[in-house]
Amino acid sequence: MDRPRQRMVNDQLVARGIHDGKVLAAMASVPRHLFVDSALASRAYHDCALPIGCGQTISQPYMVARMTELLELKETDRVLEIGTGCGYQTAVLSRICRRVYSIERIEALHNRARQNLRAARHANVMLKCGDGLLGWEEYAPYDAIIVTAGGFASDAWLQQLKPGGLLLLPEGEGGNHCLVRRRKLGRGWSEEYFDACTFVPLLEGVNHL
Ligand code: SAH
Repeated sequence: MDRPRQRMVNDQLVARGIHDGKVLAAMASVPRHLFVDSALASRAYHDCALPIGCGQTISQPYMVARMTELLELKETDRVLEIGTGCGYQTAVLSRICRRVYSIERIEALHNRARQNLRAARHANVMLKCGDGLLGWEEYAPYDAIIVTAGGFASDAWLQQLKPGGLLLLPEGEGGNHCLVRRRKLGRGWSEEYFDACTFVPLLEGVNHL
C-alpha cells in the first residue's frame, strides 16, 4: 500500500497546496488502509471520506492534512482531539506532536480506535469514551484543540486552551460547515475562516453502542 499512499500525497495533498513537510511525512507514513474496514481497504487512498460504522465517516485525506497543517504543530505540543472516530486523524497528529488526547462519544468506535492505534503502535495517544463538548479537564491546558465533527464551539474548549493556543473546528449547522481557527489571546480571540466543508454532526452525550 506504499505506492497508493505516496500517490495520494502527491496528487491530493501537494497538488492542492499542502506544503508543511511534517504533515506530508505523517500522511505518507500512517497506514490509512488499516483504519477502515477490510472491505473498504482498496479505497482507503481514494480522494473521499469513507464510512467507519455507526453512521460516522473517516474524513477525506485532504481534509485531514489541511486541518493538521492549520494547527501549526510543534513537536513539543499536546493536542486535544474531539471525535476520535477510527483514530486515523489521531494517528497523523501523534506522529507530529508530543501527545494526543482524543475523545469519542460512541463506545464502539472508541474501542475500534483503541485497537487500530495499538496495531499501528502509537504510544503517545490517550483515548477516552465521553462527551467531547466537556473537553478533558484532567490534562488541560492544551496547545491546540481540533474538532472533527461539525457544530459550534463549547466554552470548555476555550477554557482548556493555553494562551496563544489554537482551536480548529468545522463550524455551522446542517452539514454546512466552514473551518474556523481561533487563537486564544491575552484578552479575547482572533478568528480566521478557511474551507467550506461537510462533517458529521457534533452531538451531546455518550452513546453506548
Ligand atoms: N477524526 C475521525 C473523524 C471521525 S467523524 C477519523 O479520522 O476517523 C467524527 C466523530 O466525532 C464521530 O465518530 C462522532 O461520533 C464523534 N463525535 C461527535 N460529537 C462528539 C462529541 N460531543 N464528543 C466526542 N465525539 C463526538
